[in-house]
Order: sequence, then structure tokens, then C-alpha cells
Amino acid sequence: MTRLPPALKLAACLGTALLAHTAQAAPTCYHNYGAIDAMKPNKLFLYYPTANDATFPAYYANVSPARTFDIALLPGAPAGTTAQLRSRIYDVVATDYCEFNVQVLPPTTTNPDSLALPPARRNMVAIGADTNASLYGVAEAVDTGDADVIDHARVFGGSYGVFCSADLSGANNTLDRWAMGIGGTAAHEAGHNYGLSHSAVVHSGEDAYTHHIMPAGPSMPCANRVGERRHFSDQDFGILANNVGLTLQSLANWDFVNPNAATAARLRMEVLSRSATLTPVSTYTGSRSPWNPPAVSGPSGTVMFKGLSYNRFFVTWQSAKTWASPNQPGSLAGLVRGAEQFHVGTQFVQEDILNTSDQVVIVDATLLDADGNALALHPRVPTFDTGTLAADGSFTVNLGNLVAANLVLRNWQALVLPRPAHIDSLMRDREGVLKLFDVQQEAITPWREVKLAEKAELPAGSVEKPAQASFLLGNLFKDGHNVRIKFSGANVARDAVVGAKEVNPDVKGALATDPFPGASVFLEGELVEPGALQWNAEKKAYVNEDLVTRVFLQIAGKRAKPVDGALTGLLRGQVVCANLATGKKISLQAADDGSFDCERAGLVSLHGDRVEISQVALVNAKQPLVQVGGLDIAKVTCTNPASGKTVSFKPEVSTDALDCVKAGLEVGLQTTLQITQVGTVH
Ligand SMILES: [Zn+2]
Repeated sequence: MTRLPPALKLAACLGTALLAHTAQAAPTCYHNYGAIDAMKPNKLFLYYPTANDATFPAYYANVSPARTFDIALLPGAPAGTTAQLRSRIYDVVATDYCEFNVQVLPPTTTNPDSLALPPARRNMVAIGADTNASLYGVAEAVDTGDADVIDHARVFGGSYGVFCSADLSGANNTLDRWAMGIGGTAAHEAGHNYGLSHSAVVHSGEDAYTHHIMPAGPSMPCANRVGERRHFSDQDFGILANNVGLTLQSLANWDFVNPNAATAARLRMEVLSRSATLTPVSTYTGSRSPWNPPAVSGPSGTVMFKGLSYNRFFVTWQSAKTWASPNQPGSLAGLVRGAEQFHVGTQFVQEDILNTSDQVVIVDATLLDADGNALALHPRVPTFDTGTLAADGSFTVNLGNLVAANLVLRNWQALVLPRPAHIDSLMRDREGVLKLFDVQQEAITPWREVKLAEKAELPAGSVEKPAQASFLLGNLFKDGHNVRIKFSGANVARDAVVGAKEVNPDVKGALATDPFPGASVFLEGELVEPGALQWNAEKKAYVNEDLVTRVFLQIAGKRAKPVDGALTGLLRGQVVCANLATGKKISLQAADDGSFDCERAGLVSLHGDRVEISQVALVNAKQPLVQVGGLDIAKVTCTNPASGKTVSFKPEVSTDALDCVKAGLEVGLQTTLQITQVGTVH
């Protein structure tokens, strides 16, 4: 938890070049895409010293020096090179952090602290070939809420050759198995530094905890450590998503029908984006799509939408592939015959960067023939936003209609998910069954289902006057977080030691929560154009019937961060919590044990909001303390109203106990003390 002494940060450099990216195996993560990956603010380093590095901080026994990593130094080493093993470990860790706002950097042999311009938010895992008496690895802290932006961890690679030698022998002594062991431990220790405690909690429907990354060391058998790609549990996924964020913002899939008699060879969508470029990513290319990923043209001009200027793009599915329609036999590659049903879906890179970009707006969908001529009748497609968490706690998603046709939303439901679903699972199978799974093909069990209006009008609209319908997906104050862990003790054990207890307690007054209403929300339902003119393949005639597009959406939950805390040696505390971003202010009384919780009292605070908390209380101890969770504190101000004296300071780590007396303010017993904290919700 504590920051490094400055002397250690100025230590000698071991060379500067990162190893070439091209040497790495490709992680099975569709979110790792060049420039976007580089924009993720949280950097996770896998540091392999080429010589013992005594400048690595000695935050725990035997972590410093960070020992040399060389495959030849591992007890019972597998065949292969050091570079190959590093590459496969990278693959494991990068996959574990795939959908988080964390860039797992390629292996480096440079101590990241010694870089000329080290990234501000850095989690550094030093991996040595040394063996520890009882540990596979140890993190600097269980950094609740990720309050400390610079953290270290150590992995003792050689421990695998000792503790797991039976599972790493003979035909089982492979690079992949070593990489799953060492990579799993690297992901685990990095997880502590991002705020995860030990946990063997299994959500109903979830796989066994031995497949998860964060159980305590003694409870994880070697067979699972080196035999499989472990993953974050539902609970841990949510806490990580709230602490560091997700790169996923929204995904959309559609079951369309060609309402024309003529065969379509292309599907073109008109899409608006605030970004100068539009790049489809993670496109559905399964057996029900007639096409490979779409091409994008534009921007071609700008359009005003809701008072903002957007760039206009055309996204066209046209590259033919074999496919099979669910409602007509003998589908032809790249072609959709009259009344034939097909499925497409995509997500745009521009939607999923850092929670800062504006939404992508879908204006219209048009089917084109092989010559590029537009067919007269359009399948209908709604636009949708990324959801809003309002000051009253309600989380709402809006669907919009920008075309001149009266539409109806029918049979909608929402599922709150613990982990984002993969785009290939955002659909019903031929039996009508929904099977949501994640990027690692793990089945997802929703936290809960949300009942939505069975029918809602979505009248004719336009870009200038969009028609809108809203779905309420929950209320933060009524529904709360799915995962909400409150810590009450000090973290003494730090990590798994053989025989140690299961769960690491953590910083007093600190909370771990998931985003609201969950890591993501899946919505599905029908968009209906009642009595629409359309081709009927059986009657071989045009009819007037409901034209139905089945819509599958996924949006990310909001990073609502509870701000809470506790008073020690301070009685009858009056607390005021103010969100300076929204102007909302809440007054509350601290509980008898000194604790207070701004969110429970009705304050919504999102990641990045500026918040001010102040406490006024009666001093009842020589060293009165305040502790606050959920906030990156920029300034603490302590005032003694009796003397009129004030002191200000900035705590090294925001979750540390705030001590006005240590900061130089004189306070007397049974007098009043006022303490104010201003900071950013992290
Ligand atoms: Zn641990």
C-alpha cells in the first residue's frame, strides 16, 4: 500500500529497450488492437531481470533483489528458450486482462521504475527464476479501490519447479504448462495490486473456484495452476471492472429479414460518430451471417445530432461468405433472397475507448443489389445510447428511431451480467435458446433478469428530431451493487502463505463493488414495423405484415464508486457528502462506530467525478483520525474552529488514515474538529 521511498525510484537503469512486440504469441483477446490498446491508462508490466536487481523495492521478505529470470535456472526446466517462455506467459496474462482497461505490456528486461518517463498508473510484476520457501508470488498490497497507482509484485518462477514438480514432469513438462502456472500467478498478484482480495466465492451457475485466479494459494491445486487457463471469477471481474474500467462499451447484433422480393448482395448502415474514423471490431462472422466484416467509407460530411456535430459514415457488409439462414434452406454465399432471415453484428472501436468517446448513432439500414442499387424496402434498426445513471439512482438506456416509419418495441427483456458476453453469443440459436458466453467461451449466468415494458411505441423520427423510448434497468439505491465487500481490518498477511487463512482482510472503511447494475447489461427484444409491405416467400407475393428485427444489445455498467469512511476518536460526527460534478449534496450522521457511507445516504458518484466530504465531530482521543474509501484525495483541510487554525495536506495514499494532529493542528479533547477532503472518485 505504501509508496516507494524516493531513493529506490532513482535507482540504476538496466537498459531501456522493450522486447519487440512481434516476438509475442497472439493472445486470444479481440480487444488487443494496437493504438487502442496503447491508449489504456493502466499499464501492467511483466519484468524479467537479466541480472539480480537490488533496486526493486523490498516491500516483503525475499522480494528484493528481483532475481534473474532465465529458463535454465528453473528447477526441472522445460525444453525451450527464455524468450519463448516469456512470450507464452505474456499470452496468459494478456488474455486474463483482455476486457479491462489495462494494457499488458510485452515482456521487458528493464525495471519499469527506471524508465525516463514511467507511466503514471503502473503495476509492475517482477518475475524471477528463484524459488521461495512457501510462496509462488507476493503482491505489494491488496490495494482496495486501486487507491495507489504505482504498485509492485513478485513472482517466484522457480517455486513451480519445486511445489508442482509432479505436474511438470515427463510429457507434462511443457512451456505451456509452465506459462499457465507463472502467468496465472502474475495475473493473481497484479489482481491484488488492482484491489482484489483472496476469494473463493462462486456465484450460482459459475464454474468451480479452482478455475479462478484469486483463491488463496494453499487452496489452488497444482493440477489447476499448470493445467488450465484460469480466469477471474464473477465477483472479482466486477470489482476489477469498477476499479480499472472495461474497454467494452457496447455491442449490437440483429436478426434482419430482407423485406424485398429482390435478392440483396449488401447491407449498408448509415452511422454517425463524433470520431474522425470509424473502425468495426469484433464483428459477428458466424454461420448465420452472409458476409465477412464490413467495410467503412467516410466521413462524408457532418450532421447535427442532439446539438452536436457528428461525422457521417457508411458501413457496408458485402464480402461474401457461405452461410445458412434459419428460415430458408440453400442459402447462397453473400446473397439474401426475398424474405430470408440473416444475422449481423459489430462493435466500433470508437465506442469503447476509455469511457470518453461519444456514442455511435445508427441512422438507417439499406439493402443493396449486386450492382449497388438500393432496394426499396428497408429492414429496421434502432440506435441506442450507452445508458445513464442519474442523480436519483436510476439507470436508463434509450433506444431511438431516426427514420420516417412508426415502429414498436415488443417483448423486451434485460439480463444483468457479471461479465461481458462475447459478440458471437448475442443471439438465439435455432431452438430459440440464449447461451451467453464470454471471451474465453465460459458460460455466463446473469445476476438477474430485469422485466421491461412488453410494448413501447417508437414513432417516426429523423436525425433532427429523433424519436425515443427508454428502458429503466434498475435503481442504484434500491437495487445496490451485486458485489459489495466492506473491509474492517488491516491487511497484515498480504498474500497467500502456505496454511494462511483464505481471505485477506483489508483497509478499514474501504469498499469493493462492481459497476452498476453489473459489469454489463444484455438487452433483447423485437423492433416491429406493424403492417409493413414485405415479400412473402411461400405466397410468392407482397403482403402487409409485421416486419420484425430481433435486436441484441450489450452495454457496459457504470462505474459508480461508493465513497465511504470512518471516524476514529471522533464522536457525534456530522458528515456532508457533495458531488461537485452534479451539485448534489447529502448530509448524514456517522454511525455509532464512526462509519459513514455517502452512497447509502443517496449520493451517486461516478468514476472521475469531483467529490468533497466534510466531517464535523467532537474530539474524543489525542489522535483523532478519518479514513476515506473510494476517493483519490487531492487535499485535506483540518480546521479547529475554537482556535481558528487550519492545516492542509495531501495524503501519500488516499486510503491512509488522515491525521490532522500529525499534520500540525493542535486540538483539545472535547473540542470540535472539522476535516474536509476534496478528490476525484477513482
Ligand atoms: Zn494472493
